[in-house]
Amino acid sequence: MELLKKRILDEGKALSENVLKVDSFLNHGVDAKLMYEIGTEFKNYFEKHNVTKIFTIESSGIAPTVMTAMQMELPMVTLKKQSSKILNGEVYQTTVHSFTKSLDYQLTLSKKYISEDDNILIIDDFLANGEAALGAIRLVEEAGAKVAGIGIVIEKSFQPGRKLLEDKGYDIYSLARIKKLGKDLIEFI
Ligand code: 5GP
Repeated sequence: MELLKKRILDEGKALSENVLKVDSFLNHGVDAKLMYEIGTEFKNYFEKHNVTKIFTIESSGIAPTVMTAMQMELPMVTLKKQSSKILNGEVYQTTVHSFTKSLDYQLTLSKKYISEDDNILIIDDFLANGEAALGAIRLVEEAGAKVAGIGIVIEKSFQPGRKLLEDKGYDIYSLARIKKLGKDLIEFI
């Protein structure tokens, strides 16, 4: 998506060879118009998949996902990051390792918001090692539902996430794919 790539080049900052900061339009400040365009891209790609609901992971996945859900006229659910396990049987939970914070959290979904008939599109802001996406997939599949596909705003293609998801047969659509990061360097595939 050229518009997104231009914003990444103009405003993104590589904090290291592994971490990209895009606080001005996605992770802190949010450009709603750009999020709307992102929603259009995801809608155009995933409308063939008979999606029933869209899941994202709090908090930076919410803005692009709201815009996608609005345009696809589908319900959206935000998976929560809890610090500890809940043992009341009303939720699905799985442990995920956070790439940016280097700690584990419990990705949590209330059983109220999923059924076996669901075909879920998962959207997130970044794809790095695939931990967050794989956690979301585990929750969907534990509920007996299907994963329709995975939409990623910024994929760091030099990290293992994409291959892990592809090898499991999921349809991944990333709007910007970064080949290399470094000091003053952002290179796309
Ligand atoms: P993964 O679970 O694929 O290893 O990492 C994806 C998650 O970590 C995303 O939900 C995102 O919040 C965060 N993340 C991973 N890499 C980056 C990055 O380079 N920049 C920012 N801002 N977040 C990242």
